[in-house]
Amino acid sequence: MRLWGLSLAIGTLAGGLLGLRFGWITGVAVGVVSALGVVFFLGRRDRRREALEKAPFPEAWRATLEEWVDYYRDLDEPEKRRFEQEVRWFVDEQVITGPRGAEVEDELKLLVAASAVVVMFGRRGFRYPKLRDIVIYDRSFDEEYGDGGNILGMVHGQGPILFSARSLRQGFRGEHDGHNVGYHEFAHVLDFDQGRADGVPGFMPWAAVHPWLKVMHDETSRVERGRSVLRQYAAKNEAEFFAVATEMFFERPEKLQQEQPELYALLEETYGQHPAERAKRAPKK
Ligand SMILES: [Zn+2]
Repeated sequence: MRLWGLSLAIGTLAGGLLGLRFGWITGVAVGVVSALGVVFFLGRRDRRREALEKAPFPEAWRATLEEWVDYYRDLDEPEKRRFEQEVRWFVDEQVITGPRGAEVEDELKLLVAASAVVVMFGRRGFRYPKLRDIVIYDRSFDEEYGDGGNILGMVHGQGPILFSARSLRQGFRGEHDGHNVGYHEFAHVLDFDQGRADGVPGFMPWAAVHPWLKVMHDETSRVERGRSVLRQYAAKNEAEFFAVATEMFFERPEKLQQEQPELYALLEETYGQHPAERAKRAPKK
């Protein structure tokens, strides 16, 4: 509906302006044509998504998700289908390559997509902007993207999202240790939504912002004293606090809820998900 409204507004404006100069028939004609043009242009992504929805999800992709992504494995069947759909759209719409545009294997693409989908699974209809290329390096990299540094992932303010393949795999292989570079970097992407990352993403419910700032402040001082469930890196700045807390929220939700119920509840509200409940229901591995 919003699409039609916007198109109509643009069409009417274009038509009106021309109508002033060339008479109303020309004005109306131009208005209708430009409205249709805008609908066509803005609807491309929807049409592509619909076409993808009709094709069966690749079995090899399903096997990869089953093998690697606990979050997916614990979903019920309808939710699994929804997860697959989101993964497929993400892989289709985002540019995911190795350095200098090199091809990367499907398994890595799927781990990136799964990270993005897990983080936003509670917010139906959310769409990641298509603005950032995603580049996967074999190992960790340094500030100049050379080998051998200790950076596992990185999001630039305006530019690409970078991952090390090894740490991406480790994040999903880890024994729910609170580390997942995929969740971490997508938390940054969401936090960057208003131009800068400040630990308060724009989609955080308005009523949660003030309590969140307080929890973030208090918990940071506990991190600094080594008394927090969050790892040291969370104390680096607000953006890292949000990203590290997000990793913990999805990787060890029960632990986070137990140790810091208020922080957990605010993230629950923000992400629209209840991973601790799900963890209780899931069969123990
Ligand atoms: Zn970070």
